[in-house]
Amino acid sequence: MTGGIGAGDASAGIVAGRVALAAPGTEFHSRDVALGTERPAVFADALASEADAAASAAADAFFALQTEPGELDPVVLVRALAVALEGRRAELVAIAGIETGLPPARLNSELGRMTGQLELLAAEATARSGRAVEEDPAGEPGGAAFAPALALGHVPLGPVAVFGASNFPFAFGVLGGDTAAALAAGCPVVAKGHPAYPETSDLLAEILARVLADGGWPAGWFSLLHGRGSEIGQALVAADGIAAVAFTGSTRGGLALVEAAAARAVPIPVFAELGGINALYLLPGAAGEAGGGAASGASPFVTGLAQSVTGGSGQFCTKPGLLVLVDDAASRLTVASLASVLAAADSAPLLTPGILHALVTGIDRLRRLPGVDVLLDGPTDETDVAAAVPAALATVTSADLRADPSITDELFGPAVVVVYCDSIEDLIDLTGVIPGGLTATIHAAAGDEDALHALLRRLRLRAGRVLFGGFPTGVRVGRATTHGGPFPATSAPGTTSVGAHAIDRFLRPVTYQDLPESMRAAALSWK
Ligand code: NAP
Repeated sequence: MTGGIGAGDASAGIVAGRVALAAPGTEFHSRDVALGTERPAVFADALASEADAAASAAADAFFALQTEPGELDPVVLVRALAVALEGRRAELVAIAGIETGLPPARLNSELGRMTGQLELLAAEATARSGRAVEEDPAGEPGGAAFAPALALGHVPLGPVAVFGASNFPFAFGVLGGDTAAALAAGCPVVAKGHPAYPETSDLLAEILARVLADGGWPAGWFSLLHGRGSEIGQALVAADGIAAVAFTGSTRGGLALVEAAAARAVPIPVFAELGGINALYLLPGAAGEAGGGAASGASPFVTGLAQSVTGGSGQFCTKPGLLVLVDDAASRLTVASLASVLAAADSAPLLTPGILHALVTGIDRLRRLPGVDVLLDGPTDETDVAAAVPAALATVTSADLRADPSITDELFGPAVVVVYCDSIEDLIDLTGVIPGGLTATIHAAAGDEDALHALLRRLRLRAGRVLFGGFPTGVRVGRATTHGGPFPATSAPGTTSVGAHAIDRFLRPVTYQDLPESMRAAALSWK
């Protein structure tokens, strides 16, 4: 049996509607995460030249549609894709469940998020395409001698290379938010498949290829390439036709793509959504309430935090990785209660052997750092990739963290580090040491008002989303969503990868000066 797309022995993806050519000797299998075994489906790295072929098919199709527009409408395409994906829901959830080990309830909800963001971006494109910001000096009193009329419109950037992450096969996969935003903006896409779920990627690609064909779109509007990032991924970013890169994944992978894009003869933007620490600040007033239930059972704060750390086995970019509090009796009670809830929490295997390796070595590295006290070990054995992974908990003082800020490096998995501060002033000051992130969360109660204001002023400089109470896992996708933030949350801090404004990454502003009325509709349309 081959992967879903290949007609030969192994699937290397799809290039402009045809089977991608595979590099000999690069075959790999999809995996069954629950069983820890390889599946029969065979995949292979696409030849590096296929990256050029896919990029140039996308660039040709884009140029043709921009210069000779017809009836093809990105909004119609994106909506048809959402319908088609819903129609294949059962198949998609089944194969993604095997390849990731994620439960059906989680995958069904993630699939809903994938189609929901297609609808959201279609609505955003409808609301904005054809509109301009106008500045017309006619009638302005005492207008300047040089005062032309300006109309600010947008054009799509062109072909986008999309790299999805391991932990969201739908929402950040081949047809995830980046692809949705690019397609809605009127850009073709060349996706690099994630090795954690190649069968899912093939099925998603097949569904989009069918929607494109049915809608009369050029086949080059979408391609999928399987293979290693260091080979096919790098070739894709270097390919001439590519105009932008959208990446979701590790800081190391994202920075490699930023470097590759900058080294091109024509540099291109890289919108890399990376990992992060998602610090949670528990202020003294709130700590009194949070630890208060320790004798009679865990408080809602402790159970909520434990759930946020261990949900999805901690494999969320928004998982709270750092709990920062002032060292007092209430905080100590809270941490003791957290340790016992985490020790008893449900656990599951991690998504890939690579993620397990990174977590085991990351905890081991942490354990050796001066001042770090590991209360819960987390996983210690890398050999059984199908084993459920227990949570890890470590503590450290703010002084030790200042001495070695690498303590804040992301541990991708069910792990959290507690930082004890000497005082509330020390806690506030520590916000300048903890790196920026996708989120920062404050838990405050009566008596914490002054610190709350000081934290707000500092944390909005350090995070894309600031939460007052609650926990950062779980992202509401809408018009006010920011999923980004200062580096290392993303390489492009002025943008978001989730929500309606994700579309801005793939549009370029164009100002039309003294635009003739007869040209308005053509100039302002993205199509
Ligand atoms: P990853 O290992 O960086 O992989 C992401 C993709 O990039 C894969 O297709 C990978 O291909 C490719 N890649 C990696 N290094 C590359 C390189 N040097 N050149 C070209 N391509 C390269 O990340 P992951 O394991 O999938 O995801 C886990 C990380 O993603 C965590 O840090 C998590 O916090 C973060 N994440 C962030 C968000 C967000 O929205 N900010 C969302 C989800 C996850 P190969 O594996 O073939 O190399």
